[in-house]
Amino acid sequence: MPKKVTPTPIQKVLAKIRPVWIARVGHELARGMEVRLDFEEQLGRFFDLLEQSITSGDPAWMDSILLDWAKSSTETDLEEQPYQISFLINRVIALTIQVAREELTKQQALDLLAAVIPIYTYGLEVVARYEMETRVAHISREMEKVQKQMERVDKSKSAFISVAAHELKTPLTLIEGYASMMDDLMQQGKATNMDSLLAGMNTGIDRLRTIVDDMIDVSMIDNDLLQLNFQPMQISQMIDALCIEIEETVRSRKLMVDVKDFVGNRQWIYLDGPRMMQALRNVINNAIKYTPDGGTIAIDGRSLPGFIELTVADTGIGISPEYQGLIFEKFGQLGRVDLHSSGKTKFKGGGPGLGLPIARGILEAHGGSIWVDSPGYDEKKNPGSTFHILIPARTQSTDPRMAKLFDTLGKNTDGQVVK
Ligand code: ADP
Repeated sequence: MPKKVTPTPIQKVLAKIRPVWIARVGHELARGMEVRLDFEEQLGRFFDLLEQSITSGDPAWMDSILLDWAKSSTETDLEEQPYQISFLINRVIALTIQVAREELTKQQALDLLAAVIPIYTYGLEVVARYEMETRVAHISREMEKVQKQMERVDKSKSAFISVAAHELKTPLTLIEGYASMMDDLMQQGKATNMDSLLAGMNTGIDRLRTIVDDMIDVSMIDNDLLQLNFQPMQISQMIDALCIEIEETVRSRKLMVDVKDFVGNRQWIYLDGPRMMQALRNVINNAIKYTPDGGTIAIDGRSLPGFIELTVADTGIGISPEYQGLIFEKFGQLGRVDLHSSGKTKFKGGGPGLGLPIARGILEAHGGSIWVDSPGYDEKKNPGSTFHILIPARTQSTDPRMAKLFDTLGKNTDGQVVK
């Protein structure tokens, strides 16, 4: 016959307050704190372990539930609600005293508190240690992140100096060369026909100006100083103008530019024309640069709710997946100084790596975005790249005078909107 276990006085006391304790603690802590539905069940488990700890005299019985609770506080809790579990235990202590006072005789209450207080104190220590360790680990992780960021900034700073110096040096050498040739001719008294030398010099100066302008643009974007001047434009106008700009290069590189007509192409939308053209020019020039002679560049688009999505697809060398996010960062192609040749449209004539960061800055300033799709990088198979450019289709100007001036645009004579 199984031996009947007689409960000790403290067990009787615990059994007496159990239902009230669970209800009270559950009710009080559910208020104002986001607790899970199974909280009462958890409190039951807490109470059982508390009893185990008291009867065995070993508070370590509480470890499992305390650590479970502590772990359930996530990284965001760490930032927003520090010391959540210590707070919870402190509330549990206060509520236990309250319940003991209401439900038990003085002596029973004293016995109960004498038994539970050491366990609770132990619990607070465990939780506080755990919370402290987690916070220290969290802070170390944050510090590591900051350190990595600083290392990256440092790297990109010195890389910037080397790329900028290299980029500026090439046209400078060109200018120096022409200047010294002109000097020689002058010395020899042969300074009659300097036209071609001057033209060469101007090419170098233009290149210098472009690089310096790009650097200024990047710094304006970085400092949120890019000011947009919204005017009504059609995407087709910009594409047509850009196609004229690239005509000669396209012919000499035997490329085919296939501009598709799409819904939204001729819709009048408010944007900063010169800036948007600059962004599109950078993408289209890249498509030319990274596509071998004889390739195709297809410009297409579609109308989406609130946006026009433009795509520039080439049959070029493509971009490897790990590199696709980097190219929109400043000097994203760093480390590939091999590509820097100051060639604007030459095949693989990489520049200072500012074209795409500027394009992204301009699009984001408009409220749009830009990203790339490419199966990968392969100079033999030429898998190609497709740049997606999302342009917000603002049909109303924020400037009332501008709106008055242009509100008939985009409507034909019947007042219908042009798509
Ligand atoms: P860059 O001045 O070097 O052209 P960009 O910011 O315009 O700088 O482009 C960054 C890098 O992205 C380029 O160096 C090139 O490696 C890659 N890239 C951009 N467009 C293409 C493209 N259409 N096809 C393949 N690679 C490209």
